[in-house]
Amino acid sequence: MAFFRPDHTFRAYFDLSPAFLKERGIEVLLLDIDNTLAPYEQPLPDDRLRAWLAALADAGVAVAFLSNNHADRVNLFNESLGLPCRYDAHKPLTSNAKRLLRSLGGTKETTAFMGDQIFTDICCAHFCGARGFLVPPIRDKRDAGTRFKRFLEKGILRRYYKKHPGMPDVRLGSTISGETV
Ligand SMILES: [Mg+2]
Repeated sequence: MAFFRPDHTFRAYFDLSPAFLKERGIEVLLLDIDNTLAPYEQPLPDDRLRAWLAALADAGVAVAFLSNNHADRVNLFNESLGLPCRYDAHKPLTSNAKRLLRSLGGTKETTAFMGDQIFTDICCAHFCGARGFLVPPIRDKRDAGTRFKRFLEKGILRRYYKKHPGMPDVRLGSTISGETV
């Protein structure tokens, strides 16, 4: 079950600092977009995200987008940022993630993934041998499929927080939620 457990949790993407990555020797960060960096209905990156990405770049962290969403969503979101990216990534399958990692020079020791879903983002990270950082969804969908996935995640997270009681609790929701983004 350790496979499904995140290596670290954050209440929002911006709680992950360049210093945190440096301390752990992480040089490459693969980011999910939807509900990790922005809600589905937000087509463009906001100023806070731009500032956070700039700070990572200044610290020498290579950042890329790895999204299961389609080309139009990902390309529009990335248009002004120009980061390396893969859309239709089919996480948790690893072929796209590994191709992206190779192009960035990331190894399993120097790479982390960040996302809002255990069964796609965290599992993909662990299939690649890399670390997986979990954030709560900014604004979750309410469809049956998503609710079922969240139900399955609950049990994993219950055991995770029993073992790591001091870790930021994603079950309390995103600190971005409710803000104007
Ligand atoms: Mg997501």
